[in-house]
Amino acid sequence: CLWWASPGEAQTEYVRYKDPNQPATVRTKDLLGRMTLEEKIGQMVQIDRSVASEEVMRTYFIGSVLSGGGSEPLPRASAEDWVNMINGFQKGALASRLGIPMMYGIDAVHGHNNVYNATIFPHNVGLGATRDPDLAQRIGEATALEVRATGIPYVFAPCIAVCRDPRWGRCYESYSEDHQIVEEMTAIILGLQGNIPANYKKGYPYVGGKKKVAACAKHFVGDGGTTRGINENNTVIDWHGLLSIHMPAYSDSILKGVSTVMVSYSSWNGIKMHADSDLVTGFLKGTLKFKGFVISDWQGIDRITSPPDSNYSYSVQASIEAGIDMVMVPYKYMEFIQDLTLLVKNNIIPMERIDDAVERILLVKFTMGLFENPLADLSLVNELGSQEHRDLAKEAVRKSLVLLKNGKNGSFPLLPLTKKAPKILVAGTHADNLGYQCGGWTIQWQGFSGNNDTRGTTILSAIKSAVDPSTEVVYQENPDSGFVKSNNFEYAIVVVGEPPYAETAGDSTTLEMVDPGPSAINNVCGTVKCVVIIISGRPIVIEPYISSIDALVAAWLPGTEGQGVTDILFGDYGFSGKLPRTWFKSVDQLPMNYGDPHYDPLFPLGFGLSTESVKELVARSTSAAASIRACILSIVMTAIMGLYLTG
Ligand code: BGC
Repeated sequence: CLWWASPGEAQTEYVRYKDPNQPATVRTKDLLGRMTLEEKIGQMVQIDRSVASEEVMRTYFIGSVLSGGGSEPLPRASAEDWVNMINGFQKGALASRLGIPMMYGIDAVHGHNNVYNATIFPHNVGLGATRDPDLAQRIGEATALEVRATGIPYVFAPCIAVCRDPRWGRCYESYSEDHQIVEEMTAIILGLQGNIPANYKKGYPYVGGKKKVAACAKHFVGDGGTTRGINENNTVIDWHGLLSIHMPAYSDSILKGVSTVMVSYSSWNGIKMHADSDLVTGFLKGTLKFKGFVISDWQGIDRITSPPDSNYSYSVQASIEAGIDMVMVPYKYMEFIQDLTLLVKNNIIPMERIDDAVERILLVKFTMGLFENPLADLSLVNELGSQEHRDLAKEAVRKSLVLLKNGKNGSFPLLPLTKKAPKILVAGTHADNLGYQCGGWTIQWQGFSGNNDTRGTTILSAIKSAVDPSTEVVYQENPDSGFVKSNNFEYAIVVVGEPPYAETAGDSTTLEMVDPGPSAINNVCGTVKCVVIIISGRPIVIEPYISSIDALVAAWLPGTEGQGVTDILFGDYGFSGKLPRTWFKSVDQLPMNYGDPHYDPLFPLGFGLSTESVKELVARSTSAAASIRACILSIVMTAIMGLYLTG
């Protein structure tokens, strides 16, 4: 039984790591024992797709390739283009001495957002407003299918940051300022990777087959707590604060079998996370018993503060010693390989550290079945942007909308709107802009503007298809003050907010809506009844305009399915979303989170008016009318009976 041969073939040695019937841990140990230092270090390297090729993969034994935010986008590439590209790299990896498959990774942070025609779900802040972990899990499942449809087995999601300051440019990647909401939403991991089996051992990675992907909890740890919300800055907080606010979602993710964890660019009390061995090795791998692999952020190790005359080798040493297993080193990979090789050969970094890193990487690859199914095919191609996933995205949008105001000073509520009005005015920068609706991390790192870069429904086109055919919809992006009067409208829908951004580009000290948002509100609201819909990744300045607004809706960054917004506006469904963040009155109050001693928000965390759908309203008024009728009837009957008895 120690021999391995197909009929007709010469007998070859039984190779334990190639035997799918062996447990992943056994296969990992066996393979690790056969590897040279060069092969091991290659596994620890993740390079950008622009520098990858069949030859590079084979020559340097590269463990992983990525399309990241910093990668050149692949505009309008089809699933087939992706599959061919990835299989090309994979063939190189498989042609190396031991045939270890590489693992392609991508930022699928709100659906498969780099890919044309994929379903784009609301960004995490919107999902936080739904407070619906089951929905998050279903979105994870759908995302995994769309990602696998393009041949990719690994996503850099979810971001489980607890954003404590909306001035942070990545706040929309965070589910909430409240760690409990973030913890609940880690349910998305179960959707991405599959539900963990009953015999699952805590701490180990888990990926349930070809329709699932390896997930990555990021960015470890405290990324959402930096001073003044400055991206990649220092998080000043004591151990208790770090443990109670920023750490719990990591314990939850590990309990759900998350396969990888990405380290944050930020520092904790002055120490760069990429060099923090106490937290990465001591706490994450030690105390939390995480057995998957730890990946650096994009050129994250380059940002380790090093002594003035030190070289790159310093950063390599510090990060590997800290416990990083795979390095997202998009371009300088040869330098990394040389430096790390020397560090090991000179006994500065012990071989045990390298073995630990490679063991973790191989364990994930074996667990996810990459050795059995290294090459992608097009069997899932119909999953990309499928109707089922778009319907799920609509459901997510509906549940994410938060109604902040409905009717001026106790006046009659404006929402739900009637579908049958002679004319509806639609105004504002965000009403007919798919790119704005999706936000950053969509098609391109910084997002896009306009309607051509992917497929979807803008709010304006959703309004046009929702209303009665007799209703005229008039749209002006930037309405002047005379426009409303000359058109004589019944009501107006004004859609304004933030332009797309990602990471540091989104850091803001003012948090104002993009022009001409304010003038659109000023020129429309006050003249006619208006609902203002805010498309933004976070609370923005709204207090100065609020008195002229009849109804106010926070729609976050809803993604490609604008119909989710109109489903609610016109009352096909009721509002149910609750604020996942505190809405400030003025930026001078920031940072301000629920529980702070001077908490004085415009709308508190958890706020959100609910409404009934038109159907529910009708049913209730019908039953109210019926009970009034029944009541009158019983009074009349009693009177008649009384007359009869007395008379
Ligand atoms: C971001 C990560 C992302 C990586 C790869 C970095 O700039 O911080 O969240 O996964 O790029 O795109």
